[in-house]
Amino acid sequence: MYKNFITVIGLEIHLQLNTKTKMFSPENYFFGGSPNTQTHPVSLALPGTLPTINKEVIKSAVKLGIALNCKINKENFFDRKNYFYSDLPKGYQITQFNTPICTNGEIEISDNKKIKLTRIHIEEDTGKSIHDQDPFNSLIDLNRAGVPLLEIVTEPDIRSENEAYSMLYEMRKIVRYLEISNGNMEEGSLRCDANISICKKGDKKFGTKVEIKNMNSINNVKQAILYEKERQIDLITKNKKIKQETRLYDAVKNKTISMRSKEESNDYRYFPEPDLLPVVIKEKEIIEIKKNIPILPKELKKIFINKHKLSEYDANILTEDKSIAFYYLEVIKNNSNFKIAANFIIGKIKSHLNENKITINDMKIKPDKISNLIDLISKKTINYSTGSNIVFPIMLQNPNTNPNKIVSEKNLTQESDDKIINQYIKEVINKYPKKVQEFKNGKKGLIGLFMGEIMNLSKGKIDPKKTNILLNNKLHE
Ligand code: ADP
Ligand code: MG
Repeated sequence: MYKNFITVIGLEIHLQLNTKTKMFSPENYFFGGSPNTQTHPVSLALPGTLPTINKEVIKSAVKLGIALNCKINKENFFDRKNYFYSDLPKGYQITQFNTPICTNGEIEISDNKKIKLTRIHIEEDTGKSIHDQDPFNSLIDLNRAGVPLLEIVTEPDIRSENEAYSMLYEMRKIVRYLEISNGNMEEGSLRCDANISICKKGDKKFGTKVEIKNMNSINNVKQAILYEKERQIDLITKNKKIKQETRLYDAVKNKTISMRSKEESNDYRYFPEPDLLPVVIKEKEIIEIKKNIPILPKELKKIFINKHKLSEYDANILTEDKSIAFYYLEVIKNNSNFKIAANFIIGKIKSHLNENKITINDMKIKPDKISNLIDLISKKTINYSTGSNIVFPIMLQNPNTNPNKIVSEKNLTQESDDKIINQYIKEVINKYPKKVQEFKNGKKGLIGLFMGEIMNLSKGKIDPKKTNILLNNKLHE
């Protein structure tokens, strides 16, 4: 049904910056503070107050612009966007209308697809109205008013809900690597409106677009687009017209609902902000910012694949989170067992972090100790499972103890003497004569049982690869 239609999507992303202070005023903002406690007179626009620009906001915008290959606008003007709403104490929002700080960038979402960016501009956030806590009144929290935002607008280059998902996923990863925002959609640090239209293959013009708001996870963006795509295709198939409108996504019902039509949209009466001078960015400053941009996930992934010979899958998992990627880099700084180190971090360490709901920065073991442990495994002093199931848990309790010491104190050295391994094998084969016969008759899966038994007899210390070979030899005698 869908194969004759093309889905066209453009995103408008609002990114809350994590600068210490707000955009034009000196108070601190953090998510979850008591309502109306982070409200400096400047944010409230009390009479006589004047805005002062936070230079860190400009820096963050330039950082993102450089990371996304944008053209950086050196002369930046600010404008007032006027409208009346209870969450907007000033009655206007300071934004950039005609001179966005960045233009013409792009974001790579896969090897063969880039999404072009129209612009990135700076603006201030509004407060928040709360409609679901009091049965009679709407409540207002102005803590968020004046928090710096970057608005990132894409070209209508996205062609599916999955591409929109990847675009947001990559964007979030990049802003986290740059450390300009926590990129958390659930807390509203990253918000996204999706514009979507449908046209038929071969059409000269795109269709009428609908804007969807109110999505608070990347997955919801995907679901909302999927729903909206089907709704529009259904209308077009029935020869009905698409109305240009703004719709809201209801995650519980998984549908979009009409909010307002184009005719009801505001005239914002933009005009230049008279209280702020233009911000001029010098080439020297751009070069300085560029120098301090960390290695980004895309480049890091290439290094992991090409230099460390990791699989694309491993490289993706390691680069998902900057602190994990950088921990891995520390582990392998003086250690070339890239694959064992990657396996250990992706497997053992990540599941430890998940189980305990902590980040790698909360883990007390320093990367050099993990590097020592990886050495012990690679030199076959201990086997992988002793390393991860016995030594690692002891290290967690004693983060400063060297793993060598743990191995010798607990007598965990791997058993790779053929004679001793063969003894274990003999013992197990004698214990299970029937199973051995079944194995010989073709039930090859029983090898797991034999290996497990041998592992137990040796208290987990045998060299599993060698044992496997010796065991197979014995069973095929
Ligand atoms: P408006 O004037 O309504 O604000 P813009 O041209 O500024 O529209 O575009 C706003 C967003 O909508 C951008 O992300 C853009 O890529 C996207 N967009 C524009 N036209 C279409 C379309 N026909 N279908 C889907 N998205 C579109
Ligand atoms: Mg527009």
